[in-house]
Amino acid sequence: MDVSSEYQRDTIRRTLLASFGALLYSATFIFCYWLGYVLIDLTNLVILLSTFWAGHLATLGYVIFRSKKALNLPSMTLPHMVWAIIFVSISLYHTVEIRPALMMAYLTILPFGAFRLHWRGFFGITLFTFSCYAIALFLLQQSRPGHWSPEVEMIIGLTFLLAMLGYCTLGREFSMLRERLISSNQQLSLALSKIEELAITDELTGLYNRRHLINVLDKQRAIANREGTPFVLAFIDLDNFKLINDENGHGIGDKVLKQFSELLQESVREVDLVARYGGEEFVLLLNGLKIETAAIVVERIRDSVEKMKFSDERLAMTISVGITEYISLESAEDTLERADKLLYVAKQEGRNRVVRQALDAETVG
Ligand code: GH3
Ligand code: MG
Ligand code: MG
Repeated sequence: MDVSSEYQRDTIRRTLLASFGALLYSATFIFCYWLGYVLIDLTNLVILLSTFWAGHLATLGYVIFRSKKALNLPSMTLPHMVWAIIFVSISLYHTVEIRPALMMAYLTILPFGAFRLHWRGFFGITLFTFSCYAIALFLLQQSRPGHWSPEVEMIIGLTFLLAMLGYCTLGREFSMLRERLISSNQQLSLALSKIEELAITDELTGLYNRRHLINVLDKQRAIANREGTPFVLAFIDLDNFKLINDENGHGIGDKVLKQFSELLQESVREVDLVARYGGEEFVLLLNGLKIETAAIVVERIRDSVEKMKFSDERLAMTISVGITEYISLESAEDTLERADKLLYVAKQEGRNRVVRQALDAETVG
């Protein structure tokens, strides 16, 4: 399962968990009403509960709908929390003696924020909760002064504030932990893609390495067999490269290899692949081309190399190439081997040339 669907499942599970909590709270509130602790008539109770559940179900539906469409889920945590906090505050306004018990509901809503909110958001929602509670208390004191005892309210308010501060500190720790986890996950996946890149790249030239070439060839072969798309392999070897090393040193040899690699990369299209097969041997995979067209491309490269001066020492160099087209159903190794044999023919015939086709080896250069 990929990360995003796991993430969506987590969000839905948490939203359903929150809904279960809301159901329990609603049931408790109705029970309190039945016992006579809620100062509200039945019509208003029904309106209050229906409004809350309509809003809650709407956000719940939105979360599930968005996840079905496989879109990146926005955080519905905040709207859910705000909605629930307002509902709890209104219900507190309508109760008297049991208010300290019902206030616990605030403390079950807040932890949900730790999963999604930035710690500043978490602090904000805590402040919002306390403000809602203060407003509910103020309105209660205005409308039902008889039920108001300043000392008791002060003790309840202070205890509640302390509990909220404790939650806020813990929630902040959670949020920061979560953010650190997200950032280290991002660093890990960056490192992983770097490692993946290194595993398929040749260190000196930056071209793809032989392992990657073989992998791509296998895929290309499958496409060619299924759809009949042609492709051509060109096996390239630098002529008398040992001499360049011997006369100028290995460092200069390396520079020549790099410069030659750049030339190769610039000479082909994005759909083609350039790989360093090993040492001073390179392979071109020319996609969608027949041998005739590929031969023109490779001949142009051979000509450019011949005219080019390599490194600061302005060294002359030539290449020999064997090119061949993939024959349906054969193995990639067979195609490579044929190109290698053609390269050998090019060397035999005097180097600085492109040789194509297996049977009637034809010299183009
Ligand atoms: P030929 O025309 O027959 O291919 O002759 P050649 O000298 O190019 O072939 P040979 O196989 O005798 O020598 C290849 C040389 O390539 C020898 C080796 O030191 C050099 N070489 C291979 N890899 C590297 C490398 O990474 N850097 C440098 N500087 N030289 C390399
Ligand atoms: Mg060689
Ligand atoms: Mg060579």
